Amino acid sequence: MLAPKRSFDEIYPLKEDYKRFDQRNTSFSRALKETGKIVEFGGDEYRAKKINQGMPGFGIVEYSFNRAAGLYEYPPDTSDTQGNAYYSWQSIGYVTKPPGVSRWEGSSEEAAAIITKVAKYFGAADVGFTRLDKRWFFTHSRYGKELVFEDVVEGYVTKDKAVFPESHKYCIAITVPMEYEEFMHAPTQLEVATNMGYSRMHLLAGQLSEFIRGLGWHATPLGNDSAASVPIAIQAGLGHVGRHGRLITWSRGPLVRIMKVFTDLPLPQSEMADEGIIEFCEACEKCAKQCPSQAIPYGPRTYEAVCLANNPGALKWYGDEDACLRYWNEVGSACSVCFRVCNFTKEEGWIHDVVKWFIKNIPQLNGLWIWSDDLLGYGKMKDPAKYWE
Ligand code: SF4
Ligand code: SF4
Repeated sequence: MLAPKRSFDEIYPLKEDYKRFDQRNTSFSRALKETGKIVEFGGDEYRAKKINQGMPGFGIVEYSFNRAAGLYEYPPDTSDTQGNAYYSWQSIGYVTKPPGVSRWEGSSEEAAAIITKVAKYFGAADVGFTRLDKRWFFTHSRYGKELVFEDVVEGYVTKDKAVFPESHKYCIAITVPMEYEEFMHAPTQLEVATNMGYSRMHLLAGQLSEFIRGLGWHATPLGNDSAASVPIAIQAGLGHVGRHGRLITWSRGPLVRIMKVFTDLPLPQSEMADEGIIEFCEACEKCAKQCPSQAIPYGPRTYEAVCLANNPGALKWYGDEDACLRYWNEVGSACSVCFRVCNFTKEEGWIHDVVKWFIKNIPQLNGLWIWSDDLLGYGKMKDPAKYWE
């Protein structure tokens, strides 16, 4: 008989003194406070210098391609998604339930089936369900807004605070796909898939939230703002967190971005994803070896932070986010080498499915897959000059 699946808290125990994280401590937020910019490499002067150096993957075409992939509407001079544009915490009014019609009712399983179908049509890779867990919510946003929970029907965001509705206790965690080919060009500007993922998330957040509102319920969509995405995605059964700190899914490896929509529409709790990913990462240190800034740790998971941008007290691998961001500004892109080299970053195919079966079921063979990954040349950067051929 199969052993019952372990719970989130069994796989990822927290210390008793674990606290909600203040997003003002992230490397991005501190850079914003210190320099007025989250990253240096997006500035006009920086880009002009890079383009004029004539480096492959950093030409005007690649910069333009990358920026255009990330087309989403935020207020000027900010990348704050919290409650903004299609991430609005209130009805946009685009989809409404006609007056005189009862709101949609059904079992939580029926609701989950409909939401999954709709979200996948709108571009989701995978969809999972979990419950509101306040442990993952930031105390304050990057822009200093306090996040409080209140008994309101719809949340709202003001200049000073974000009011999250207590009644939105059901969470839809969604991954959106990022493409393999473009990631193979990291760390150049041809890694456009990250920005493309953010555009997809933005549209999907609005579409799915308005769909739920059209049924007569309420929705609070979140991008990277307001709550940490990775633990929520794990609780919703979408995958596990790897050594590089990214969510690794069995379907697409780390090539996903994560968004979440909270709602008062009752939804079920998904099962945890199959185990095997953490055990694989324990044996594999490829991302740690290849990280240009040596920001990814070696050795086992710990509870200890390595920089101010970490929130200690959870059993996981803590990356040096400050070193990572310094490298971004040096190389001129969001790097993404750890995504590119990860053993779980693979194109679809039955051979990779067979290997994944072994990783789940016969971890004693993990060393063989780690050895053969390097031997077969997986994770090597592709020549940016050839991308346009
Ligand atoms: S993005 Fe680059 S620098 Fe940052 S952790 Fe990944 S490999 Fe290292
Ligand atoms: S490269 Fe290896 S150690 Fe790093 S996240 Fe991927 S599988 Fe885990």
